[in-house]
Amino acid sequence: MKIRSAKFITSATKLDACPQWEVPEVALIGRSNVGKSSLINLLTNQKSLAKVSATPGKTRMLNFFLINEEWSLVDLPGYGFAKTAKHEKFDFNLLVGDFIERRDNLKRVFVLIDSRHDPQRIDLDFVAWLHGTGRPFSLVFTKADKQSPTRTRANAAGFLEAVTPWIDPFAETYTTSATAKTGRLELLGAMRQSVTA
Ligand code: GDP
Repeated sequence: MKIRSAKFITSATKLDACPQWEVPEVALIGRSNVGKSSLINLLTNQKSLAKVSATPGKTRMLNFFLINEEWSLVDLPGYGFAKTAKHEKFDFNLLVGDFIERRDNLKRVFVLIDSRHDPQRIDLDFVAWLHGTGRPFSLVFTKADKQSPTRTRANAAGFLEAVTPWIDPFAETYTTSATAKTGRLELLGAMRQSVTA
């Protein structure tokens, strides 16, 4: 898909502040630092549409970008572990939950997984929750340039095995690198399919 235009529209901190439009949406989510902003910039061919390593306040909001005046890419807040006095707690933005469960415009969620690591508990927990919502989703392995293609494939395979209970075994997955600028067209193709289906 050719990107003719990509514009930031608005940030929302609650569901009823999201754009009231008929535009179909796809959302991107992953734990902080997974490379989400870099990927948005790669997809849209812009240097700083999404702020790379944005300030903490901004990262709690839903950011809407309008692509080709036709569909929207929604940048969801990252998830993480909040450190509490006694233990670490899964820190999950309630707005994200609401948005994924209730937003009519939302066609598919793309979950970003850092391809450098073995499966991480936090990503597994998120995928399990997402599966439970019934919302269609796909996995995107980021930062593929950080190791050899063989290692990237092995890490992706390890993750897929760990999420077996929650994913369609035939589902397409995507591998990207914002640094090497790879995987862009495949992912854009999947997004276009999601918003035109
Ligand atoms: P976000 O917190 O998920 O939005 O992540 P950012 O896009 O801000 O990226 C976090 C860090 O990882 C930054 O230092 C980026 O430069 C780096 N990064 C992001 N994508 C890639 C990638 O594809 N390859 C490499 N080598 N580094 C990346």
